[in-house]
Order: sequence, then structure tokens, then C-alpha cells
Amino acid sequence: GASLTEADPEIARAVELELGRQRDEIELIASENIVSRAVLEAQGSVMTNKYAEGYPGKRYYGGCQFVDIAEDLAIRRATELFGCRFANVQPNSGSQANQAVFLAVMQPGDTFMGLDLAAGGHLTHGAPVNMSGRWFKVEPYGVDPETHLIDMDAVERKADAVRPKVIIAGGSAYSRHWDYERFRAIADKVGAIFMVDMAHFSGLVAGGAHPSPFPHAHVVTSTTHKTLRGPRGGIILTDDEALAKKLNSAIFPGLQGGPLMHVIAGKAVAFHEALQPAFKDYAHQVVANARALSDSLRANGFDIVSGGTDNHLMLVDLRPKRLTGKAAEAALGRAHITCNKNGIPFDPEKPFVTSGIRVGTPAATSRGFGTSEFEAVGRLIARTLDGLADAGEAGNAEAESAVRDEVKAMVARFPIY
Ligand code: PLP
Repeated sequence: GASLTEADPEIARAVELELGRQRDEIELIASENIVSRAVLEAQGSVMTNKYAEGYPGKRYYGGCQFVDIAEDLAIRRATELFGCRFANVQPNSGSQANQAVFLAVMQPGDTFMGLDLAAGGHLTHGAPVNMSGRWFKVEPYGVDPETHLIDMDAVERKADAVRPKVIIAGGSAYSRHWDYERFRAIADKVGAIFMVDMAHFSGLVAGGAHPSPFPHAHVVTSTTHKTLRGPRGGIILTDDEALAKKLNSAIFPGLQGGPLMHVIAGKAVAFHEALQPAFKDYAHQVVANARALSDSLRANGFDIVSGGTDNHLMLVDLRPKRLTGKAAEAALGRAHITCNKNGIPFDPEKPFVTSGIRVGTPAATSRGFGTSEFEAVGRLIARTLDGLADAGEAGNAEAESAVRDEVKAMVARFPIY
């Protein structure tokens, strides 16, 4: 058959342009990464052709003997990587992994607790516009207005009062460790299931650079494409056999039909990579780089929410510079530094404007950036945004162009693909 360029030049061109963008920009979006060629190859393989409803050895279709090899390996490697007994590697996304937990252990109308979206939680932890917030009763917990840390006494008081079925730890914009022991003790006290959504930091857990939610959590969900550096998708992990059975039924036939076998093959490859000694170095470098970036930004006059970071990301409070997240994201984009605007706790601005940006180190660390590069990234962010503060919303073309040149020189030293 024809190649992509021959068959569909318009899509081929979009792919080519996207590759160019990834090569030429410093990627600071905390939820993104740069997968290996091996992961790309598995995901772009003929396994996309196969229907395999069910689980390895118990399928509803014939001809599953080879996709079973991939799924069995993915399961075995995931349980080894995270030190747990059971893994479901079929969720098509992190959101579906979370939905499966809800379907397995709650009824519509039941109450659960999760970190408030405005304080760094995820949509699927009870945002009013999300199914989790529409079909269940969410009782969010937040962060302390002074320290920006989760107030565990407040979590306990709320759990005592509302008796949730599930308590979720984990989020999308929280830069500190989670007190798993205390969460579990609170969950046990009120008879709740303790769930950790480690979507953001699972790669750090895999590499031993972040505390593991096991043995504290009853159930753990994750995406596979963030710090874990695999294909886009989700996983669910547990040590509890009875719960594992319910979770499997919740994914199939509860929520999904045929699993994405090419993606599962890609997940298996990513887990294999994460089991290698080099991934430990990577995970520790991600954390060291985040500290270097946080220190550099603070030295350049920015506030970091909670004063710093224990993981791969941080929220930058732009109010000392009198800038919005929206304007900062756009200016940094023009300078070829990619990040996203993000609300900070108790943000006075609207969600589409915000007072902050979220930045993270997983992707640039994958291309080889170390602490000296991230120290420089902090300076480049400051140069762009100080230029913006002087020039107003339209931006400071001179500063942005000077930064773009420096970005070009930096990324040229660390080529990808
Ligand atoms: N959970 C957390 C904590 C996340 O940050 C995300 C991704 O943004 C998800 C779940 C959802 O993952 P997905 O985008 O694959 O649905």
C-alpha cells in the first residue's frame, strides 16, 4: 500500500509539522513526555487490527493468541514495576480508569471526596461538568490558604461529617508529596475506599523518585503517557483480588468494548523501559530538574505555589509580575517555550485567564536537559515575561525573538527522533 505521504499528504504534513514543533520547542507541559521509537513502533503496529474483547485466555474473539502475549507481558511488567498483585492495562485513558473505579465501587448519588479542581485536582475527581460531579456527590477538600498544602485535619473533619464511599488522593497541579498513611487512616475510620490517582507522578514512583501509594491505597489509577513515558492510556492497580475482579468487569464490559491492543503493546514496551536502571536515573533527574527550575524562577522574582516542588511540576504565581496566565502562556509560546495557564489556589482571575502557569520537567528531561539547562529555562521564562510586563498584552517582540534564538541553540544540543 501507499505510504502516508502518498495516501494522505494533508495528514502527513500535519504530522511533519507537529514533529518539527516538538523538536524546536522546549516542552514544559507537565503532563507530556517524549516516548521512545520502540513505543511509537508498537503503537503503530498491526495490533490495531485486532478485536480482543475480554481478558487474556478468556476472549470473545478467535485469533487472540498473539495479542494475549502483549497483554500478559503488560500486566506482568506493570505489577512488577509498581509492586502490586493485579493490573488492568485496558483503560483507554486516565479518565476511563477513574470511571471504572467509580463504576466498580459506587452507585449514582454516592458521596466521594477528592482534591478541589481549583486547588489542583482533576476534572474526573468531581468537577461539576464531568460525569464524576454530575452522577455522584462530591465533597471536595482543599489546600491551606497560607501554606498551599493539603490540610489533613480538614480532610479528616470532612470525612467524619460526610462519610464518603471513596477518598481520592492525587491531582494535576499539586507539587508536593501526599500523606498516604494519614489518608488511609481516615478512609479506614469512615469505611471508605482509599484511591490514589497517580497519573502525574507514576513515572517517578516507578523510578523510585517519589513515595509509592502501595501498600496504603486500596486502588491506584494512572495514565501511562505522563512521567511514565508510554503511549496515551490508563491503568488500574490493586492488591485486593476481590476488588480486581470488580475493576476488570467495570472496564469490560462495564465501560469499554474491544481494548486497544496496539496501545497495550506500547504500554508493555514502556513498562519494560521503566524497569531498566536508566529509568531510575531519569526519574531522579526529573525531580532534580524541577527543583532547579523552581529555584531559578524564585531567584528571578516569581512566586511558586507552596514555595517549591517535591515532584516534576510546579505552579508559578504570576501576580508579583502583574501578569495573567493567559498572557504568559501566549508570550512563552511565541518564544518557543510551551506551557499551560493554570489557576492557582484561591485564584482571583477567571479559569480561562488565571494568575498562574503550570510547568513541568518530564519532556525536556527525556531529551537530555539537566539542572544547568533548567536553570537557564528559568532565566528565559523570566526574560520573556519581564519583557511582557514592560510591553503589555501585545507582547515584546524583541525579548521574545531573543529568547527564541536561545531556545533554538538549546534544543539543537538535545535533538529528538
Ligand atoms: N487523572 C489525573 C490526575 C490527570 O492529571 C489526568 C490527565 O490530565 C487524568 C486523570 C486523565 O487522563 P486522560 O487525559 O488520559 O483521560
